[in-house]
Amino acid sequence: EPVIGVLALQGGVAEHLAALERCGARAVPVRRVEELDQVDGIVLPGGESTTMTRLLDTFELYEPLRARLADGLPAYGSCAGMIMLASGVDDDRAAAVRPLGALDVVVRRNAFGRQVDSFETDLDFQGIEDPVHAVFIRAPWVEKIGDEVSVLATVPHRSEGATTPDAVEGEGFAGRIVAIQQGAVLATAFHPELVEGDERVHRYFVQIVRGW
Ligand code: GLN
Repeated sequence: EPVIGVLALQGGVAEHLAALERCGARAVPVRRVEELDQVDGIVLPGGESTTMTRLLDTFELYEPLRARLADGLPAYGSCAGMIMLASGVDDDRAAAVRPLGALDVVVRRNAFGRQVDSFETDLDFQGIEDPVHAVFIRAPWVEKIGDEVSVLATVPHRSEGATTPDAVEGEGFAGRIVAIQQGAVLATAFHPELVEGDERVHRYFVQIVRGW
């Protein structure tokens, strides 16, 4: 079984460890370089990307993690984790975030804005058969993607799924990119780790790690 690390500095660490274990992977928290060295893949959880940037420095993990990612370590980031895997961040506090550059994308933090701070919807996910229930919490979206990046999911139109909230539909957020893959790096703007009883996104990542 592959050993999958969860970056355990801050955020939804326990939920990812539990979801990975339900998929039959060996899941371990990563706080030190010696732990990072042991893993075959890594999950960057949701939380707060400015804080995560600061803690990566404090724990002296920023450069070792960046180097392993540059070396091709499979990775999955949810929400703040997606922001950290990006190459660029385009909002007014972007300077406080130092993304790791594992994905050729630019993301916008807190993109859905105040009005729809958090919402849930069902969406189609490329490579997963039935719709996935997606929980968004002060989520980013993907603003720009490079040629090597595949779009796995976008915010649906109400007509496609019946569950998109009015506020999301009204603001014209349908079509925004919220899940992507580039090689062995996966990212979602939403939180599958919070939907207990559905491990399909984590299983998708574990498959990536096994095949790498
Ligand atoms: N808004 C947070 C950030 O910018 C992400 C929120 C989350 O991970 N749920 O990092």
